Amino acid sequence: MIVMKFGGTSVMDVEAVGRLARIVSRERRPRLVVVSALSGVTDALLDVARLAEAGDGAGARQAVRDLHRRHEGMAAIVRATPRRASLLAATDALFDELEAIVRALAVVEEVSPRSSDAIAAFGELASSRVVAAALEDAGLPSRWLDPRALLVTDAQHGAAVPDRETTDERLRSQVRPLLAEGLVPVVGGFVGATAGGLTTTLGRGGSDYSAALFGAGLEADEIQIWTDVDGMLTADPRMVAEPRVVPCLSFDEASELAYFGARVLHPSTILPAVGRGIPVRILNSHRPEAPGTLVTRSVGEGEGGPAAIACKRGLTRIDIASSRMLMAYGFLRRVFEVFERFRTPVDVVTTSEVSVSVTIDDRRGLDGIVAELSAFADVASEDGMAIVCAVGERLRTDARLATRVLGALEGLPLAMVSQGGSRKNITVVLRDADAPAAMERLHRRFFESEGASAGRAALAIA
Ligand code: ASP
Ligand code: MG
Repeated sequence: MIVMKFGGTSVMDVEAVGRLARIVSRERRPRLVVVSALSGVTDALLDVARLAEAGDGAGARQAVRDLHRRHEGMAAIVRATPRRASLLAATDALFDELEAIVRALAVVEEVSPRSSDAIAAFGELASSRVVAAALEDAGLPSRWLDPRALLVTDAQHGAAVPDRETTDERLRSQVRPLLAEGLVPVVGGFVGATAGGLTTTLGRGGSDYSAALFGAGLEADEIQIWTDVDGMLTADPRMVAEPRVVPCLSFDEASELAYFGARVLHPSTILPAVGRGIPVRILNSHRPEAPGTLVTRSVGEGEGGPAAIACKRGLTRIDIASSRMLMAYGFLRRVFEVFERFRTPVDVVTTSEVSVSVTIDDRRGLDGIVAELSAFADVASEDGMAIVCAVGERLRTDARLATRVLGALEGLPLAMVSQGGSRKNITVVLRDADAPAAMERLHRRFFESEGASAGRAALAIA
């Protein structure tokens, strides 16, 4: 069986749900459909909670009515009259309940994390009703499931932690039989409940996490994440004219790229699936025929160059030289304690016998950091720096790749060069002004020129 998860933009309006129904219909394997709230709805629900907390009952109720109207409009996707009527009735019931909750909270002007979850959950509860009805209407026998009866979590509202064992048991006893009967179950992501039945949510963007948990529990052959882009790209399209889609990525590569702001997928959310060896495929619901990006535990090592390149801009470099000319025992500890005190994460670190260089993104503590470091070291800092990084499992096994990366950057002054212990990336720090040229050159070298890397990207379609 497979899990098909559709994000907010893939259910945002009647047209999108129509595309979804076609995609799910065309699939022949047994499948569980997981959906997000319609795009923007979770944000709107959290605004409702804020209005209630501020005591603006009228404003909160108006916002609920607007959401009610938007969901009513979605019923147009269902042609059969009785089915449409029952979808509208279910939608009315949901929004009436939401309005009652909001009215009460606005009176007491208090919204606890527990109430906030109760409100936020309505987005997925409502969108999943629409999708289940749309699938039925398209001729697919489907079954709406309540995520609160499936996904069991602890009581950390807003970031609830799943109880995998109990959830897996419920998936086996409640979902497997439906699949065996040939039904297509539809369930909202992001939402769960405590063993005692209190509604919880997994945290923003949590529908991917739900999909991974369900896929892992059902031992799915594949988890599909349907979104509105073709997959992970070889580079940020704001930096590179013609980025390509990366056909396959290892989990570690995807994690590395996420750190650099690739927002398609947060790898930590798919860990439950990848941990059990289940491949995750990112697909575009506007172009279902495009192959997308496949994320797996590991990728074969026989393939070409880096998987992708990434860039992080607007950084500050700090050079810290031991005043005693040689780094004494304990020097590094003292240096990093300063960053810890100022709660400033460090991105890249390079060291030599006498000095350490680091880059930071968050400059708020910079003056204090420099002052404290100056007590025991010579310190210089420079703004306007950037990290450019090539990511790929292949960097670990092909010694020539690092040289080729640096070769592509010839002539650009490099402030720092680093290849970490995992050796899945090679990172350089250079002037921010040089970052666009560095990205263009690397992209041309590895992803554009004739047979450049014979790499993974070469297989992809733009
Ligand atoms: N609707 C939730 C959110 O916007 C969960 C999700 O879309 O993944 O955060
Ligand atoms: Mg969303």
